[in-house]
Amino acid sequence: MTGIKENLQKIKSSLPEHVTLVAVSKTKPVSDLQEAYDAGQRVFGENKIQEMVTKYDELPKDIQWHMIGHLQRNKVKYMAHFVHLIHGVDSFKTLQEIDKQAKKHNRVINCLLQARIAKEDTKFGLPFNKIEEILASDELKELKNIKIVGLMGMATFTENQEQLQDEFSSLASFFNKNQEKYPNLTTLSMGMSGDYELAIENGSNMVRIGSSIFGVRNYIA
Ligand SMILES: *Cc1c(COP(=O)(O)O)cnc(C)c1O
Repeated sequence: MTGIKENLQKIKSSLPEHVTLVAVSKTKPVSDLQEAYDAGQRVFGENKIQEMVTKYDELPKDIQWHMIGHLQRNKVKYMAHFVHLIHGVDSFKTLQEIDKQAKKHNRVINCLLQARIAKEDTKFGLPFNKIEEILASDELKELKNIKIVGLMGMATFTENQEQLQDEFSSLASFFNKNQEKYPNLTTLSMGMSGDYELAIENGSNMVRIGSSIFGVRNYIA
């Protein structure tokens, strides 16, 4: 008994209706994903392209696959035929590559720009002014096979609620401001197992939850 079904039900029942739950299944075996699938979950998040491709091949095809990790541009081609949403886009070059690969499959791939909100310098992401630069650029209009549908952020790994609050609310107000100019921006992806409630209070409408559903991960370094 893994408790995945129970964990999922508990979390789902606590989420407001407008919040999408991405079940973060990185490092977990296909059998765990199948268990979540059988409990009704259809949206899964992975942070390594190769691992996501393997799981995509093995699991039912009505799953929406979200790439939440840092992207290696040379691997975008392996997921371009099926990925549903790419959360971690942090450069224009990466957008160009996604566009190029999406075109080959006659698809439009939805993307989120990753904002840098954490104080730690280990976290990826774009400063707000770079995001505005990309959204306003003429070059972006040339990319017909991608669509920027929102923003993603990862807060600092801390227990300090005040700091988390600051980071989430700054991204949310930046998001709201840009949403007025760019109505395609509908998704604000922020919040993980440890901080999703606070993220939702601050306006998140997509949470990425792993360990609270599947249990702690054993990383093999
Ligand atoms: C692993 C990961 C998560 C989920 O983390 P948990 O703390 O296990 O919920 C969310 N977002 C990103 C980008 C991740 O890499």
